[in-house]
Amino acid sequence: MPGLIDAHTHLLSEMDGTKVNEQDLEMLRIVTTQSTAERALLGARLAREELESGITTVRDLGNSGVNGDVALRDAINRGWLPGPRIVAATRALASPGGQFGRLTPEAQKLIEQEYVTINGPQSARQAVRQALYDGADCIKVIVNGAGRSNVTLDEMKAIVEEAHAAGVKVAAHAIGDAATRTAAEAGVDSIEHAYVVPDDVLKMMAQKQIFLVPTDATLQQYEDMLFGSRQPTAEERSRIEKGFKPMADSVRDRLQRALKLGVPIAAGSDMYLTLPGKSRGQASLMVLESYAEAGMTPMQIVRAATSNAAKLLGLQNRLGVLEPGKLADLIAVPGDPLKDITALEHANFVMKDGVVVKHQK
Ligand SMILES: [Zn+2]
Repeated sequence: MPGLIDAHTHLLSEMDGTKVNEQDLEMLRIVTTQSTAERALLGARLAREELESGITTVRDLGNSGVNGDVALRDAINRGWLPGPRIVAATRALASPGGQFGRLTPEAQKLIEQEYVTINGPQSARQAVRQALYDGADCIKVIVNGAGRSNVTLDEMKAIVEEAHAAGVKVAAHAIGDAATRTAAEAGVDSIEHAYVVPDDVLKMMAQKQIFLVPTDATLQQYEDMLFGSRQPTAEERSRIEKGFKPMADSVRDRLQRALKLGVPIAAGSDMYLTLPGKSRGQASLMVLESYAEAGMTPMQIVRAATSNAAKLLGLQNRLGVLEPGKLADLIAVPGDPLKDITALEHANFVMKDGVVVKHQK
């Protein structure tokens, strides 16, 4: 098969999965205790784990310190260390506060370690130009973050215009009616998450061929995260399952609606949390199970993680299918992924750009 592509990851961030509900604090821990250099070294480990799992290309969407993703990308391209091909975003553009909770005035300087704050269309254009100068291959925008002010339609249009003029695509983190509509109207290339999105926005996405990147999780994955290596009590488990179910049902429903309306889907894990006993690559591939649970066919899932993702990354002329003239990124898996999609979680042969990375007998 073609090498797998994860269109939404964060190789320079690792949060404790058991603290999935305290992400504000985890983010503060990272920016106050880990230098970008340290995060790039963490990224070196996670990049190897991704590649060994058969993920030969990723789009890394921010939370990388100041341009740590560019450093990791370039190091991999130079052959200094093994890892997937990286399409890097540099710092995400966001309205004040980024994805931090409310911080004291003294602490607000930390925000610029992770996000570039934009205020108005002109500053949005400037932020895109800065990202391009910093080495970005794509632009990530947090349309709605933790604060109460979202990126506006005018700002979003300025970002898309500036990025597209440079031949670079725009990924928009957006959840809910208003934010997804802003992103779709502005003509971004992908909407990330969109756990809540109305049908008229999905129709607009289908018409403009804007990708949905559904960064969904299965209940099992959520439980593994929350409890870590600890065994939950029966009461804890039933409480978590009750809380998770309504959310999971509505997220599955939106993926089914998107498919029905013809929205193109690219696979993206958004994996930045530790899962007990799993490498980053293994944890990332679990997102494919959530697609199966939502009713995507195995072939739809394979395409989402190969040819569709390649198209979203603008790499469809080089990656995503097995054809003469394409780069030799390929994997082999035991079993038939068109019968059981979890076969993709067990690649035993991985080749990137003609070089064998893994070959298990
Ligand atoms: Zn993300």
